[in-house]
Amino acid sequence: MNELIRSTAAELAAKIASREVSAVEVAQAHLDRIGEVDGAVHAFLHVDTEGALRAARAVDDDVAAGRAVGPLAGVPLALKDVLTARGMPTTCGSKLLEGWQPPYDATVTRRLREAGIVILGKTNMDEFAMGSSTENSAFGPTRNPWDLDRIPGGSGGGSSASLAAFEAPLAIGTDTGGSIRQPGAVTGTVGVKPTYGGVSRYGLVAFSSSLDQAGPCARTVLDAALLHEVIAGHDPLDSTSIDAPVPPVVAAAREGATGDLTGVRVGVVTQFSGDGYQPGVLRSFEAAVAQLKQLGAEIVEVSCPSFDYALPAYYLIAPSEASSNLARFDSMRYGIRVGDDGTRSAEEVMSLTREAGFGAEVKRRIMIGTYALSSGYYDAYYGSAQKVRTLITRDFERAFGEVDVLVSPTTPTTAFRIGERTDDPIAMYKADLCTIPANLAGTPAMSVPSGLSDEDGLPVGLQVMAPALQEHRMYRVAAAYEAARGQVIADVPALAGAR
Ligand code: GLN
Repeated sequence: MNELIRSTAAELAAKIASREVSAVEVAQAHLDRIGEVDGAVHAFLHVDTEGALRAARAVDDDVAAGRAVGPLAGVPLALKDVLTARGMPTTCGSKLLEGWQPPYDATVTRRLREAGIVILGKTNMDEFAMGSSTENSAFGPTRNPWDLDRIPGGSGGGSSASLAAFEAPLAIGTDTGGSIRQPGAVTGTVGVKPTYGGVSRYGLVAFSSSLDQAGPCARTVLDAALLHEVIAGHDPLDSTSIDAPVPPVVAAAREGATGDLTGVRVGVVTQFSGDGYQPGVLRSFEAAVAQLKQLGAEIVEVSCPSFDYALPAYYLIAPSEASSNLARFDSMRYGIRVGDDGTRSAEEVMSLTREAGFGAEVKRRIMIGTYALSSGYYDAYYGSAQKVRTLITRDFERAFGEVDVLVSPTTPTTAFRIGERTDDPIAMYKADLCTIPANLAGTPAMSVPSGLSDEDGLPVGLQVMAPALQEHRMYRVAAAYEAARGQVIADVPALAGAR
């Protein structure tokens, strides 16, 4: 196995900039790794070998000519297939979009390219980002590199699995209810949901527009921070993009790595424990809190009572917005068209196309959302959910009046088995119990590996949450914790055959 694939993004970038290795060698090492293991993992829906090598050569040319390159120039990355990238298909894990080639780059994609980051390909996901396991992908599930019979989380399971399988050192995910953080937790990797509006949504295929956020995925906190600063910042093409300076997350990650949290107030959310939480996950969480205390943090318990209603509120708001957003897939503008033989009306073709193109979970969400928004039910369902959203925002505000960051487990259990929850949508939805409040409030949150559960030896994640635009607080805490506990991913037993 080529040692380059073990390196962090920061190490690779330094080696490329100093010409110790070329960006082409780095890209090739990762493409080779994908060739070796992705048959088993299935993290990628599309690998862009040509494009990756071309981008890598351009970085090598810049370095050779002495031109200044960015802090991640030449580092390979896996892009979730919900963001558009010119020259590659965008499917969102859906049959409906099969064969669609977007005519433009998402702002995130454009910023990656401008930074000299080498896009390896597009990663697998639950269809239109609806799910917690990637089993809702129309193209087959991704497998967790820690145990190939288990799910890698979702919806961005492909992005996180690609990191855990050492197919890429960096990835991009999107998080509407937990799709960056929950896959990060169950694969032993780092995943960050930025403040809503912190990263542009231009070119991110919309699921629930008031919740969707793209963010960085990596194996270390510093790598996530470096990527965060590449993709974040104001974009006039997204009307909800925040026009404010990007929080200083790289500096915070470096400061945190010195391991001192003296004076930092950490709140433990009391709502996230008890029934439904795996004992090994709770023990890992308690150990993490003890570790933070040892680093000098002051620990206090904080109650956020409205968080108990976050899951039901989310499952009204997200499907409502989805039912409206997915109306654009009308068989005319994008993707496949079914039954257009000259004898059928546009309505019939649209209906046949949506029937054939959408999977069961997407159809379920469209129906729930349409019902929740219908006249006579709007106030009872959608309206009530919006009120809960306000209460959750107030709980956060009250909590952050007392503490600098909040912590919880990222997800109630470790990776479950493929097939275990496919017949039970509610069990599937519960994977996001702890992650959803931050989406509803628009606040940033991240998952950092907190070791392996003592029950099943599978990765557990520690969630760190901060107030809007205070990402640097959570990066500092996560980096201090990571430095103290040591990296989890180095132990990954995965894919023994390939090692
Ligand atoms: N698992 C959640 C859902 O199914 C969250 C998905 C996401 O964040 N995209 O909606």
